[in-house]
Amino acid sequence: MARYTGPVCRLCRRERTKLFLKGERCYSMKCPVSEAVTDRHSRAYPPGEHGRDRMRQGSEYLGQLREKQKARRTYGVLERQFRNLYEEANRQAGITGENLLRMLELRLDNVTFRAGWGASRAQARQLVRHGHILVNAKRVTIPSYRVRAGDEISLAPSAREMFVVRRNIDTLDREVPLWLEPAEGRQQVRVASLPERQQIDEAIREQLIVELYSK
Ligand code: SF4
Repeated sequence: MARYTGPVCRLCRRERTKLFLKGERCYSMKCPVSEAVTDRHSRAYPPGEHGRDRMRQGSEYLGQLREKQKARRTYGVLERQFRNLYEEANRQAGITGENLLRMLELRLDNVTFRAGWGASRAQARQLVRHGHILVNAKRVTIPSYRVRAGDEISLAPSAREMFVVRRNIDTLDREVPLWLEPAEGRQQVRVASLPERQQIDEAIREQLIVELYSK
């Protein structure tokens, strides 16, 4: 299955929440599901001709499915990859839902986004793919690469002066999570520890995903 390349705001509208898939626009009044947009202009309902009709409460299964789709779309992971991650999370010791979220957070494209180098996870993924990100001084071009505690992730020399990266660092003002330690004027981050659930600021109810897959 190919990666979704259609309009991403539709995905947020489908989940009826902001998934922050578009960078700066997500923080502006242009966001169609922004709470700041007046009722008349808000499109915080599912897309499509019958979008408004789908506002009703759904079944338990629907709630679990939507939560899974929300997580998958937030991190930009395909169904098969997501399922494999769940299986791995389930095999690990500890709470399966938290294991799953931790593995999603440790993806290299997500770390690039969390470091503030990419305006969105999609842009961060592109930075990785184009060879602008180093892990322990070695170029890694696999967005799903999982970083480990102690790893140092940095911008390649080619990326340090890139306008888009500089602008993201200077203007987005995104707070780097506690499990990442910024260095070299935010051109590098070190994985200080593995992320705990309370350090992951995504409003995802991971328990519902576990319930869905363990049926
Ligand atoms: Fe579009 Fe971003 Fe708003 Fe989502 S949060 S609807 S991607 S502008």
